[in-house]
Amino acid sequence: MVIPAYNEAEALPAFHIKLYDVLKNTNLTFEIIYCDDGSVDDTPKIIKSLQKDYSNINYVRLSRNFGKEAALTAGIAEAKGDAIITMDADSQHPVDLIPEFIAKWQSGAQVVIGIRVNPSGKGLLKNSGPKIFNKLFKAITGQAVNIGSSDFRLIDRSVQSAFLELPENNRVTRSLIDWLGFDREYIEFNANDRDGGSPSYTRNMLFKLATDSFISSSPRPLYMFGWVGIFITSCSLLLGLAVIIEQLIMNDPLSWKFTGNAMLGILIVFLVGIVLLSLGLLSLYVSHIHTLSKRRPLYVIDRSKSIHSGKN
Ligand code: UDP
Ligand code: MG
Repeated sequence: MVIPAYNEAEALPAFHIKLYDVLKNTNLTFEIIYCDDGSVDDTPKIIKSLQKDYSNINYVRLSRNFGKEAALTAGIAEAKGDAIITMDADSQHPVDLIPEFIAKWQSGAQVVIGIRVNPSGKGLLKNSGPKIFNKLFKAITGQAVNIGSSDFRLIDRSVQSAFLELPENNRVTRSLIDWLGFDREYIEFNANDRDGGSPSYTRNMLFKLATDSFISSSPRPLYMFGWVGIFITSCSLLLGLAVIIEQLIMNDPLSWKFTGNAMLGILIVFLVGIVLLSLGLLSLYVSHIHTLSKRRPLYVIDRSKSIHSGKN
């Protein structure tokens, strides 16, 4: 189990008891890794006291608050199990579903994704934010996202090693795991209310998460300028040509009576179009650099399923 925790002193003890119960009943060997993301409340104390009362608890402390994505990655890197389940420390992800995750994994799934079906809370941003984000995301990047897709996930050991080989810095754990592929299954769940404490994601952090997802997923937003440029340039070019032919060459048989100012306007719009076009061209190059800079592998081999036969 990998559980990122940032200032979760209020919610953690109750969560731990529920979690431990469920894990014990699975009759599997387990470890719980609490990844303390630089908490400034009593979280470290609580985890350490839990360590005295329970076996199999590991405490990983980040040197400061790096954010949930970093904490998750740190925890996944430390985990030694054949399968790893990540979930929140605030009891919003129901522990009762853990046996279902494990069952799906035992019957062959390498990634099991929790899909949240109830709306994610009060307030305009939290309520319609995800819906708007998913729509925009699909429209702009062309990649469908699973609405409600959450960090309540199980990944197999083979997915863990592939995940840890991804070197990029602006990580969004969910989308990286989605990018990796592997055999996946889904489990729908209703998120509970938070068990004490308060959510630590601020509006700014959510915004950063959203932009990170966009930017690391697709260079398409960059190309938009190019398309606008093509549109503006071709419209103003046609209009300009029509004016030149009709008014300057043929002496205005249709009496359009374009003034000098209007012609100047068309010229300026044409030039703006050219500038946008060059931006679009530039973005093609930038997108190549962008792809390179993520240094994602060209492919991921699923070693658990690949078979080499014969001698080498
Ligand atoms: N979390 C973290 N670092 C942070 C913010 C949050 O490790 O900087 C953890 C937090 O302790 C919880 C999980 O990430 O276990 C989800 O956070 P939260 O409940 O604040 O977000 P939400 O439920 O709104 O997704
Ligand atoms: Mg929460």
